[in-house]
Amino acid sequence: MKHAQYDVLIVGSGAGGGTVAQALIPLVQAGASVLLVEKGPRFRDDEFTGQELEMASALYEDGGGFLTADGTMTLAMGVAYGGSTVVYTGTSLTAPERVIRHWEIPGLDYKDLVTRSEKYAAENNAHLLPDEEINENNRLFVEGCRAAGYEARQFPVNVKGCLGSSLCNLGCPNQAKQGTNRVQLPRAEQGGVEIVTRAEALRIEDRAVVVRVGEAQPDEKGEPSEWKPGDYRVEAATVVLAAGSVGSSTLLLRSGFGAGLPRLGEGFTCHPAFILVAEHEREITNDVGHPKSYYLDRAEQEGWVLETCMYFPFVTAKNLTGFGPSHSTLMRAFPRLQMILVLATDKVTARNRITVDRRGRPAVHYTFTPSVVESMVDATRAATRIFFGAGAVRVHAPPADPPLIERDEISRLDERIHSRFFRPARVSVSAAHPMGGCGMGGDASQSVTDAWGRVHGHPWLRVADASLFPDSVEINPYLTIMGLADRVAEGIMNDHGANSASLGEER
Ligand SMILES: Cc1cc2nc3c(=O)[nH]c(=O)nc-3n(C[C@H](O)[C@H](O)[C@H](O)COP(=O)(O)OP(=O)(O)OC[C@H]3O[C@@H](n4cnc5c(N)ncnc54)[C@H](O)[C@@H]3O)c2cc1C
Ligand code: SF4
Repeated sequence: MKHAQYDVLIVGSGAGGGTVAQALIPLVQAGASVLLVEKGPRFRDDEFTGQELEMASALYEDGGGFLTADGTMTLAMGVAYGGSTVVYTGTSLTAPERVIRHWEIPGLDYKDLVTRSEKYAAENNAHLLPDEEINENNRLFVEGCRAAGYEARQFPVNVKGCLGSSLCNLGCPNQAKQGTNRVQLPRAEQGGVEIVTRAEALRIEDRAVVVRVGEAQPDEKGEPSEWKPGDYRVEAATVVLAAGSVGSSTLLLRSGFGAGLPRLGEGFTCHPAFILVAEHEREITNDVGHPKSYYLDRAEQEGWVLETCMYFPFVTAKNLTGFGPSHSTLMRAFPRLQMILVLATDKVTARNRITVDRRGRPAVHYTFTPSVVESMVDATRAATRIFFGAGAVRVHAPPADPPLIERDEISRLDERIHSRFFRPARVSVSAAHPMGGCGMGGDASQSVTDAWGRVHGHPWLRVADASLFPDSVEINPYLTIMGLADRVAEGIMNDHGANSASLGEER
């Protein structure tokens, strides 16, 4: 095994890791050495082809098919230089005040968090698209909401020179979407932070991480690693875990930290989601233009959020229930389909948690609680009214049996769409917002880290990603992760004596 030594070692390069890497540039300028290791490869611009199957298998954990322990849901997690920000859609919202207050984290101030999140929204060029760039799928959502008595809100999106190819979740082929791969990581590297890709952290030891650098396979997308393939033991005065909710929790559990941290792996939430499609009589532009411009937030009142979306044929086909002629008829109608994504804003439960198996691999245990099922059903009914309000002739609703609902059935929606038809594994549920596992809080009996991401009992070890959330954030999470990671970086700067400001509290 080879050996290396750094002042700070960051694991993971997504929303959290990319933020910490960039924020530590002043530390590097003050003479410290900072290394970031990322399991995924670094992709060249010309490798983003927009081809669905090829890009999904290159960019996602398990090709996008990472299954929860009982096989009823898939989790979408990016594995690349840039992590999930390479595949995110770029909707840029800050956390609702009521959610952060409900979290009740001693030392976490809502204003401080939102100010930091807003800094990153500006840095990533988050803005509302002008009216002429809104496609018909999005316009129909606004119209349908109005007809159904709701008010849709517009998402700020973090794009620069968007060409409207609608391929955001396959990695932007036009380099328009502003993820950490385009903004924070290149700046960090220019500022002297060393980044090694294809480098997987296997185990955390006392002030050290064992890292395995893999070899690029022939015909595989992505650049070779910056380091020679092999195993390394990297010592560091500070270790920052930013491997994502599942990744960071798994690493700590696999490394034996669970003994002193009884809450490790607990508190997993993910905003379970599924796609609804509705058929119009005429073609609508659904796959041209930015896919996600509007949403309807009923999280506080009803536990759900609706978003506009446009998914590619394979994902759409997988999400439609049924087989054979009815399935293929709907798929043939693809150019006439309007699409809405349903997200349930799930809450922490004792059963939903991350564990590791005997080989140290993650197992995500997730059961749909009755209230999550009710939220999804309620959201499906609302979305169906929105579709019909926008002029659709029929709606495909997974929690209905049969799933196709004709326009003249609108008065029977409560009966047609019902929780008794929501059969786990029959409805294709997927989640792209894994959260929790290393939740923040007061002490080790209740949480894994403090409000600055410091792991209880291990002052040299910090967490800086979505695993910090003690409960779901109830809205698209990346800016909240960046805000929290910014605080983690500030704490590290203080540990290393690089901040001159008097802070008045331990960070
Ligand atoms: C398809 C999709 C669309 C999304 N759209 C939006 C959106 O529009 N708006 C929004 O706010 N959020 C969105 N999200 C969610 C958002 O991208 C994530 O919440 C956020 O990126 C999570 O940040 P993170 O730092 O926790 O983890 P990630 O960004 O997932 O980064 C974790 C990184 O750690 C690496 N890693 C894991 N284990 C190891 C290891 N052992 N060693 C080394 N490296 C490791 C992974 O390869 C990955 O690169 C979307 C997510 C997906 C998947
Ligand atoms: S819609 Fe815009 S941001 Fe999304 S992939 Fe196309 S060009 Fe990139």
